[in-house]
Amino acid sequence: MTAFEKVPNRPSSIKEQLSEAERVKLLAEKLRSVLKNSIVLTPDSKGYAESIIRWSDAVEMRAGVVVYVGSAEDISTTVVLTQEYSVPFAVCGGKHSSSGASSSDGGLVIDMGKMRGVKVDAGTNTVKVQGGCIWKDVDEAAADHGMAMVGGTVNHTGVGGLTLGGGYGWLSGRYGLTIDLLLAVQMVLADGRIVTASKDHESDLFWAARGAGHCFGVAVEFTFRCYPQENTIWGGQMIFPSSTALDGVIEFANNLVATSDGNSAMVMGITQPPFMQEPAVIATCFHNGPQAQAEEIFKPLLDLKPRVNTMKQRPYREMNGAMNHAVDYGGRKLSKGASFATPLSPAFVRSLIDELKELHARVAGAKRTIMLFEFFQTDKLASVPLEDMAFANRGKHQNLMLGPFWDKAEDDSACRFWARGVAKLARSELERVCREQGDAESVKSIGEYGNYDALAAKPREIFGGNLERLRDLKAKYDPNNAFNKSYALARI
Ligand SMILES: Cc1cc2nc3c(=O)[nH]c(=O)nc-3n(C[C@H](O)[C@H](O)[C@H](O)COP(=O)(O)OP(=O)(O)OC[C@H]3O[C@@H](n4cnc5c(N)ncnc54)[C@H](O)[C@@H]3O)c2cc1C
Repeated sequence: MTAFEKVPNRPSSIKEQLSEAERVKLLAEKLRSVLKNSIVLTPDSKGYAESIIRWSDAVEMRAGVVVYVGSAEDISTTVVLTQEYSVPFAVCGGKHSSSGASSSDGGLVIDMGKMRGVKVDAGTNTVKVQGGCIWKDVDEAAADHGMAMVGGTVNHTGVGGLTLGGGYGWLSGRYGLTIDLLLAVQMVLADGRIVTASKDHESDLFWAARGAGHCFGVAVEFTFRCYPQENTIWGGQMIFPSSTALDGVIEFANNLVATSDGNSAMVMGITQPPFMQEPAVIATCFHNGPQAQAEEIFKPLLDLKPRVNTMKQRPYREMNGAMNHAVDYGGRKLSKGASFATPLSPAFVRSLIDELKELHARVAGAKRTIMLFEFFQTDKLASVPLEDMAFANRGKHQNLMLGPFWDKAEDDSACRFWARGVAKLARSELERVCREQGDAESVKSIGEYGNYDALAAKPREIFGGNLERLRDLKAKYDPNNAFNKSYALARI
């Protein structure tokens, strides 16, 4: 019997009698004695320092205990005991959240990082993916079978966080969002139950998991539809000086969205590479087809004579690593989501470049800051009715990801403030463009992509008209708000 179990009247009295640090210590002891397939680390353990590293140093926190879980049963035991010991907890997958949603300051972290199995069934065009995988795991396993699916455009991001919040990728123009390919998800709920949610079973939970899954449980395994991908991709990056090429690149991108059949896409990054004296326009381009066809479509960009050009035919699995170097682990940074409508105005982007230069002048290390404008064909993803699942960011608008980088903790607030300010400018511009297009009403239903939001936008901005149903389901599946590190959905 542990010291905790000797405390009278547990669990209600435990909070009053022991400090959080004492409860965490007892919980770690208990978990070490009961878990069968997991590794329990405390600050004195080998491997602990590595376990608390996050994509952004700004959200690295000293957890009291980290559990590298190894089975659904162990996750269930951990979820139940952690609540019994009144210890706050977080769940982490690929560790890319920069809001701190997957870190814990003194509490417990359920780390999915040892559960990275992928099983492709080419006979049924499905793939089973464990909840701790990163996208590279999936891309590679699927490619070994001549298949692909909609995964992140940076393949060190986690399948868990990206899927539960929606999921955009290079194949979105053709197949929609990652959640549109989700057939089932096995989850551990707050009460410890292990359930598989799909269209036909636990359909309410399945509805909520596709967009707000982080608030409902731990995703142990996803089953996705995947598609044959035998041909290579024409993809890579072209880099231009912003002073001469910005208008041309934006004109091309606006036109691409209007004319593409869904097989071509582009992400426009604005940042200052170390080898240039001014902010650059980086066009990361994708065409799911042969080079000759791609070069015809992308001719206006090629004609702008990029300073750097890495475009070539490459396997899809390699394409998803093309942007990795720009946004790797390490350093202080965050992401903030916003939306924009096409046609994007070069004058507006120039005003944001001024904001960027102002940040460079004020904050050490800010030169790596990047603003990413996505240009994806949206017909496919917008064809799914908004009320079909919790995710509510469907429409003709596009995502903008604001990614400040900086060196020192003392600049954390300045960079957060900058990202919020630029997101506000983007909102005003979105409203202006929609008004100009005679669409002032529908802009009200445009929010932003929650997965890009490190600054935790209000749930209404992420879930729009789906919020009430989501709140009802939160009360049903997690009445005590055990999964409380992401959106504030609980009515309590
Ligand atoms: C460099 C970069 C590139 C990106 N590219 C894309 C992109 O191409 N497309 C796109 O759609 N998004 C993209 N994103 C956003 C990305 O989807 C989110 O950051 C997402 O939250 C990352 O998930 P993760 O598992 O890596 O993060 P984590 O920090 O581990 O988790 C994020 C959230 O998900 C929860 N979570 C993670 N795994 C599980 C699980 N198994 N069960 C329950 N909850 C879980 C965590 O608790 C946390 O709330 C990108 C982000 C970054 C930083």
